Amino acid sequence: METYRKIRDIIIKDVDNANETKRASVIMRFFALIMCGYFLLQGICMVVCGEWNGFVMSLLCLAGYMVAFYYTYLNHTRTALIYTIISTLAWVVLYVFLFGWDCGAQHFIFVLLLLFFVASHAAGRQKVMAAVMLCALRLALYWYTKIYDPLIEFDPVIAVLMQMINTITIFSLITAIIMVFCQDSIAMEEKLVSYNEKLREASRRDPLTKLYNRRAMLEYITALIGQIHKHGHWFCIAIGDIDFFKNVNDSYGHEAGDAVLVRTAALLSECMSGKGSVCRWGGEEFLLVFEEMNGEEALAELEKIRELIQQQQIMYKGRMISVTMTFGLDEYDSEKPIDNTINQADQKLYMGKRQGRNRVVF
Ligand code: GH3
Ligand code: MG
Ligand code: MG
Repeated sequence: METYRKIRDIIIKDVDNANETKRASVIMRFFALIMCGYFLLQGICMVVCGEWNGFVMSLLCLAGYMVAFYYTYLNHTRTALIYTIISTLAWVVLYVFLFGWDCGAQHFIFVLLLLFFVASHAAGRQKVMAAVMLCALRLALYWYTKIYDPLIEFDPVIAVLMQMINTITIFSLITAIIMVFCQDSIAMEEKLVSYNEKLREASRRDPLTKLYNRRAMLEYITALIGQIHKHGHWFCIAIGDIDFFKNVNDSYGHEAGDAVLVRTAALLSECMSGKGSVCRWGGEEFLLVFEEMNGEEALAELEKIRELIQQQQIMYKGRMISVTMTFGLDEYDSEKPIDNTINQADQKLYMGKRQGRNRVVF
């Protein structure tokens, strides 16, 4: 179990290079390891059957794939890929020349094609070119073996053993490559979905106060209007603006102003919980939606909120800051566009400012 875990850790070790992907490295490691196993097995078969030329070839190839594995482990995935493709092509061609078509080495060309497609970052055109070239190579090898006899005749037992280990190895290689590729694609998709969700959420929030921004609020109001047309519920809109906020910035600094905005937003959000929604409409202005309330009910709620804001003491770097807010409130009229309600609330807000601030105008 411990050995299995160690091997697994070695294979799935992440890459440190920013420009190389983990998927390509893991695929290359699987490929190199399976090929090492293949040549080890082939070497044993050769020894058992006294095929010493074949045994030497197996050993050389085994060493070659150990080097490929080492390259991927050093995070040289691209070098390992190029090295693996070239060395695989070399032994495949050599095996077919030496031992003939029946040795089955040519089948590895299919695996090479798959490896190149999933582990390389080459452009689509280059991949198609590679496919054409590999196809041409396989055809050339076939016609060569049709014309010329192999240089070394295989023992029939070896030929049978080779077919078996070739089949097992090729299936293992294809399975490993596709498995890593699919798992990686699924993980990638999940990552994308979660990034998308985060991005969407970030695009709907004001970065300072974490309240919904104007765009998200307009979407929310549009959805609310849709429900109203179906179920006939009511809502009110209020716009609140912090009084003399410029003075806060001027007296305590911009950062203190930010702190006041954050604390005020948190208080508004808390007060609106279960009653509707609030967003940062802009600067030091907030838009509040009171769901299923008429103007009188919303006015009562808003008065409580205004008082809480007034009582709030904000401690910033040892200094106590307090602010007041003025609100303009209007009931939604389904006969008119929503802009009308928002403009009415805005006008009432400025009426409140003119009347002396720290009040709600309905
Ligand atoms: P009034 O009572 O008439 O609303 O006066 P006011 O000073 O609040 O209004 P004014 O429009 O003159 O000033 C608003 C200030 O709000 C100016 C601007 O620098 C400040 N402000 C807007 N957004 C931010 C912000 O994100 N952080 C900070 N610290 N200040 C902001
Ligand atoms: Mg203001
Ligand atoms: Mg303002």
